[in-house]
Amino acid sequence: MSRKQAFQFLDIPRTMPQRIPVELRVSGDWGELYGRFGKEEAQYQSGRCLDCGNPYCSWKCPVHNAIPQWLQLVQENRIHEAATLCHSTNPLPEVCGRVCPQDRLCEGACTLEEFGAVTIGAVEKYIVDTALATGWKPDLGGVAPTGQRVAIVGAGPAGLACADRLVRAGIHAVVFDRYEQIGGLLQFGIPNFKLDKSVIARRRSVLEGMGVEFRLGVEVGRDLPFDRLLAEFDAVFLGTGAYRYTDGGLVGQDLKGVLPALPFLVQNSRIVTGNDPQGRPIAGWEDTVPLPDLTGKRVVVLGGGDTGMDCVRSAVRLGAARVTCAYRRDEANMPGSAREVANAREEGVRFLFNRQPLSIEAGADDEVIGVTVVETRLREPDANGRRNAEPIDGSESLLEADVVIIAFGFSPTAPAWMTEQGVQAAANGRLLVSGDGHLPYQTHQPKVFAGGDAVRGADLVVTAVAEGRDAAASITAWLAQQVARSAA
Ligand code: FAD
Ligand code: SF4
Repeated sequence: MSRKQAFQFLDIPRTMPQRIPVELRVSGDWGELYGRFGKEEAQYQSGRCLDCGNPYCSWKCPVHNAIPQWLQLVQENRIHEAATLCHSTNPLPEVCGRVCPQDRLCEGACTLEEFGAVTIGAVEKYIVDTALATGWKPDLGGVAPTGQRVAIVGAGPAGLACADRLVRAGIHAVVFDRYEQIGGLLQFGIPNFKLDKSVIARRRSVLEGMGVEFRLGVEVGRDLPFDRLLAEFDAVFLGTGAYRYTDGGLVGQDLKGVLPALPFLVQNSRIVTGNDPQGRPIAGWEDTVPLPDLTGKRVVVLGGGDTGMDCVRSAVRLGAARVTCAYRRDEANMPGSAREVANAREEGVRFLFNRQPLSIEAGADDEVIGVTVVETRLREPDANGRRNAEPIDGSESLLEADVVIIAFGFSPTAPAWMTEQGVQAAANGRLLVSGDGHLPYQTHQPKVFAGGDAVRGADLVVTAVAEGRDAAASITAWLAQQVARSAA
């Protein structure tokens, strides 16, 4: 490394790609917030990497991307090689570059963090967008088909990552989803301002080009019996996500003007951005709440995770007069990405920390008029390091609202069609995998593997990608064992 390069991080500050001006955002622009680096910016920003010898960024990245190596390739303008390297660890790199909470992952672990971390996510997006726009395609290296077939239930990040790795191993992957479009929450949960939907359409054609087959608009367990999949395929991967809504059991949650977060975002995506995933809602899960007109309304969002941030920023774009996020812990303990909180603040969202909702209040005709909240203080960290909030007596107040959106989170469920075939789940609905004597991500039904939110509970895109990828390695190993056994 030259002396000049060693100190480049001092001469060249960390920058993110240009963003859509805030005036446009607050007047209803749903475009992807961050633009894309040009060649020079990407090279400058990549050149800030110290190649420090201890790539904590790679260790903190759940898919363990070879970050310093691809930053070097960008400096040398070897973008197609950089794209190949990105894909060697991450089947959806352009998606993760856009939606990962980098401040908590790779960039949060960058040695330069206190000077301004290397802009890793934006460079990852630059590499893959540029490579795909200039004709790069994943190279399957002439892999011979094994003749084996695997069914994947769920076209979310876990299912897509699994399919990518299986076809690279010569195994035919058939992906089923109840929606007519692929992507799972990438498609209909995460709003367009974080991830433009054309990115998912492009990824679909990349995967189809690799040989992945999609059968969409099919709900397994309703349109297609699970036992048929088990009979017709050599193995099955379940990447069905987490859709059981946590409502908090608040008095007043059924009032007019109170909405659950995910159906709000799904409907919004359909109506406002024209991104309609179609297909029937999953059995027992309603995704068709009527979308109220938020123009001029006071909106209160309860919850401080990624979903809460997407709700507040969607409400701003829908013309709400005042948008408030109430969260029961302090800002440092908030689960949402710090970058998204900053973007929301810039768009005028008001944050009220250390406020726990007690009940939702009704006015005339059962219309919501506000939320009674109590102030909280944080207890000492528990065994898991989590600081729980305890209410401060006598600090109750009314937060006035015309619309309240509940964004407390989601958990998975194991439907009967899974458990009847031997797949087991914990009491909290998470599918049980990797037990004694099982391969990683293998369920109690040896032919069935699972990963992503269905196993971890609601988490991140990149962790779902990591699990889908690693489950595919287990499926490949298990299928090879079966072949060896039948040959013996
Ligand atoms: P999903 O993405 O939920 O996909 C599951 C798929 O399975 C769905 O397409 C569903 O239709 C299908 N399916 C389910 N049952 C069946 C069946 N019986 N038959 C056929 N198909 C079925 N993470 C981030 O990293 N960054 C973010 O910014 C971020 N923002 C988020 C915002 C919101 C509003 C939400 C809700 C989540 C967000 N997340 C974010 C979390 C992330 O989206 C999830 O962790 C990730 O999508 C999980 O991937 P998955 O493949 O396990 O499940
Ligand atoms: Fe960072 Fe996510 Fe990319 Fe890993 S996948 S390098 S955590 S943006």
